[in-house]
Amino acid sequence: MTRVELITVGDELLSGLVLNSNVGRVADALASVGLGLSIVCDVSDDLDEIVAAALAAAERADVVLFSGGLGPTSDDLTRDALAAAAGVELDFDPVVAENLKARYAEWGIPMPEQVLRQAEVPRGAELLPNPRGSAPGLSMQLRGARVLALPGVPGELQAMLAGSVVPMLAELAPGPALVTTMLRSALVGESAVAESVAEIQARAEKDGVRFAFLPNLGDVRIRLTGPPEAVAATEAEVADKLGAQIYSRDGRTMDEVVHGLLRERAATVAVAESLTGGMVGSALTDMAGSSATFLGGVIVYATGAKAELGVDAALLAERGPVDAEIAGQLAERVRERFGASYGLACTGVAGPEPVGDYPPGTVFLGLAGPDGVRTLRRDLPPRRDFVRALAVLAALDLLRRELLGLPVDS
Ligand code: ATP
Ligand code: MG
Repeated sequence: MTRVELITVGDELLSGLVLNSNVGRVADALASVGLGLSIVCDVSDDLDEIVAAALAAAERADVVLFSGGLGPTSDDLTRDALAAAAGVELDFDPVVAENLKARYAEWGIPMPEQVLRQAEVPRGAELLPNPRGSAPGLSMQLRGARVLALPGVPGELQAMLAGSVVPMLAELAPGPALVTTMLRSALVGESAVAESVAEIQARAEKDGVRFAFLPNLGDVRIRLTGPPEAVAATEAEVADKLGAQIYSRDGRTMDEVVHGLLRERAATVAVAESLTGGMVGSALTDMAGSSATFLGGVIVYATGAKAELGVDAALLAERGPVDAEIAGQLAERVRERFGASYGLACTGVAGPEPVGDYPPGTVFLGLAGPDGVRTLRRDLPPRRDFVRALAVLAALDLLRRELLGLPVDS
C-alpha cells in the first residue's frame, strides 16, 4: 500500500486564523486514485521545523505532499527547507523567472525583486505547472519518498491536484477509486451506535472499509470509506442493523430529510414551541425552498401564551405547562391556526431549575396530523443548551417517523 502524508505549512494554520481546508481537498483527490492520507502535519513558517517535518515524513511515507510556503515572501520557506533537507543547492531557473516577469509586464505593474525567489528550484527537482498562480510546484526525491510541493492558496492547490498530482499518483499507485458514504443517526449516543455496528465493522474492515463515527449533539454521522462494492454492502448492513435510528443514508441533515418527506406527500407543517424558543422553526427554515412545506409557527414560552393559542386553560392550571397532553393540544391548535397538514409542538424543562416535579431535560413533544394526535416524552441530558438542541432534533425526528410510519421509540 502506498503511504501518503501531507505537510501543511503556515503559522496561520497553527494559530487557527485560517482553517486547514486543504486537507479535505487533498484527501478527495487521493481517494479518486484509491489512496488516503496516513498523517497530516501542520508546521509553522520556520525553516528548521519544516526540514524536520520533511525528513520525518520522508522516512515513513512513499509520497509526501506539501501545501503552502511556495510564495515570494520571506515566510515562504518550503523551497529552502526542501533543498536543505535534501542537502542540495537552490538553482535559479531562468525560464520561471521570465514567466514571472512576463506576468508582471502583462499586468503593467513593476515586479518586486523578491518575486524572483519563486524561480529558485532545489537542484534535481522538477517543476509542476501552476495554471492559477505564479509559483510553480515542485516534484523531487527525498530519501525514499517522492515529494510533491504545492502552493497553499486553495484554488491553486486544487487546480494542481487535478492537473499534476492525481495523474502522477495514478501512475505510481494505480488502484480502484475509493468512495465515501455517510449515514446519520439521531438521538443515540456515539458509543451506543459504535457498539451496535461493531461486528459489521470488524467484518467490513477486512474488505477495506474504514469507519469513522462523528458525533454532534445527538446526531452521529457514520462515515464509510472504501472500495465501492464493499461500501455499498456495508452501508446496507449498517442501515438494516440500526433501523429507524438511521434518518439519512446520503449525508442529508434531519431538516432536509423532513422537508423531502413532506414534499413527497404534498404536506405542510407548523410549529408551536416553548423551551426551544423558535429553534424548531429556525431548523425548518434553514434550507432553501423551505416555504414549500413550512408554514410558520408560534413561540408559546410563557404559560399565558400557551393559553392564548387555545390550550385548555383548566388543564394548564391543573397540570402546568410541562405535560404530554398540553404538548398534544399545542400541536392541534397550531395545526388548526395555520391550516397545516401537521402541527408539531414541544414543551419541557430546559433548566437549570426544575418545573414542578419535572427535572431539567424532561421534554414533551406533540404531533397532530391527519391521523390524530400523538405525544412523546423524552428525557434528555440536563444541560440547558443540550436540552434545547436535542429537543429540536427529537421534534423533527418525531415528524419524520410519523411520515414514514415508523415506531417513535425504536
Ligand atoms: P502565495 O504565493 O500566495 O504566497 P503559498 O504557496 O506561499 O502561496 P501560503 O503563503 O502558505 O501559500 O498561503 C497563501 C494563502 O492560502 C494563505 O494566506 C491562506 O489564506 C491560504 N492557505 C494556505 N494554506 C492553507 C490551508 N492549508 N488551508 C486553507 N487555506 C490555506
Ligand atoms: Mg505565501
